[in-house]
Amino acid sequence: YAPKRKAARGWDLNNDNVVRELDLARDPFLKHRWRADPILAKDNGGTESQAHRVIANPSNPEDAVGACVDASLSDCESAISAAKDWQDATAQQRAIALRQAADLFEANAGELLALLARESGKCTLDAVAELREAVDFLRYYADRGEELSGQAPRGIITCISPWNFPLAIFTGQIAAALAAGNAVLAKPAESTPLVAAAAVRLVHAAGVPREVLQFLPGDGLITGQALTSSPRIAGVCFTGSTATAKIINRAMAENLSPSAPLIAETGGINAGIVDSTALPEQAIRDALASAFQSAGQRCSALRILYIQEDVADVLLDMLHGAMDELDIGDPWSLATDIGPVISPEAQASIQAYIQTAKREGRLLKQLAVPSSGHFVGPAVIEVTGIKDLAAEIFGPVLHVARFAAADFEEVLDNINHSGYGLTFGLHTRIDERVKEVSTAVHAGNLYVNRNQIGAVVESQPFGGEGLSGTGPKAGGPRYVQRFQSPQEAQSSC
Ligand code: GLU
Repeated sequence: YAPKRKAARGWDLNNDNVVRELDLARDPFLKHRWRADPILAKDNGGTESQAHRVIANPSNPEDAVGACVDASLSDCESAISAAKDWQDATAQQRAIALRQAADLFEANAGELLALLARESGKCTLDAVAELREAVDFLRYYADRGEELSGQAPRGIITCISPWNFPLAIFTGQIAAALAAGNAVLAKPAESTPLVAAAAVRLVHAAGVPREVLQFLPGDGLITGQALTSSPRIAGVCFTGSTATAKIINRAMAENLSPSAPLIAETGGINAGIVDSTALPEQAIRDALASAFQSAGQRCSALRILYIQEDVADVLLDMLHGAMDELDIGDPWSLATDIGPVISPEAQASIQAYIQTAKREGRLLKQLAVPSSGHFVGPAVIEVTGIKDLAAEIFGPVLHVARFAAADFEEVLDNINHSGYGLTFGLHTRIDERVKEVSTAVHAGNLYVNRNQIGAVVESQPFGGEGLSGTGPKAGGPRYVQRFQSPQEAQSSC
């Protein structure tokens, strides 16, 4: 059941070149002195006089990683007027440029990994996995675009990406839109423009023209709003919260052609179930990774684990013991399991949530954290079920609930009624149960007897249903086609 496989085209970590690049990323010079170039919106027609926004390192806020000048409203307008689709290149030429970009990402692994760690607080192994995913997206969508050769693009596509995968999702969105021949306006998350800027420079260096791919850093209210409400935009690709997806949807409905798609990947309140036949060590290892890896800042992360009541005490003891082994701190250290959360605001609101649970006597455990940096100690909170979870808490917080064997179907019903449907994890050794859950549960990605994060491009297309997204799944065979003109796509059926 969807065992984790190495990406079909991912680079090999044992390869000498990659190891050299990793050494470079660990070079003390790069670690302590390296600063990203300021990103100037004037590249897109703006002015240099606008204020630089300093981007601080979440694990060490004194460390200014770089600076960014956000795109103004007039920058967005000039970008929209200058935008040009990529139809003058054939699908093969576009695929060659995207593969070249993949090669350049690998050749510049040191810089990209350093930025992932310093700008977004990614632990080394998460950063490596993210870079590999970005490279996989470039090569996979290049191939899919080539297969769809001869079909027309939609026009100008706005891509709005999140800070939790500031390289992989940013790259995946633009790669798909470019593979289909569109013009792309790329808006990275407000807190992670630097790694996205580095990626855009490499994609341009690979031969994608500047007017085909334009970079517009900025916040959602100004830049995001401008890039989703011009009638010239032919579609929007968005990954982020369900609430923001609804705002974008409304802006598009008012201003864009009704045929312009919103391709959205949004939130989830992802559940897992461990029954009494599951292997305890495996269930705990997977719960730990699913809930706390990347400090819980993944859409796919496990938020609530249902444990069958007769094994619950034993499993919770094991969970707490395993948590004590986690190292929290500097993402640059290979020993670190959990890095910081993205911002002081995120830290404060997650910590406030945990404090409320503590006051109510529901906090079972929380780990201590370093005193500086935006760290939140991984926490376990007891609840009666998914109905107790009002919203997605985007951090290292795992809720646990006990269930009686006789209530298994009711648990599934309650999970389905949350309205979200992104990932779901099941630990059991009953084959019939696996079949039952696969048909009953509404989730885009179901994982059995393994962790429920880290979907691999091509072998595990990723995306949800209901409040969790619109489809098609990212990293899947139908994704690039969604970026092409529907008439053309239909004529090929
Ligand atoms: N694709 C990622 C995973 O499988 C999650 C993406 C997200 O958090 O948006 O873990």
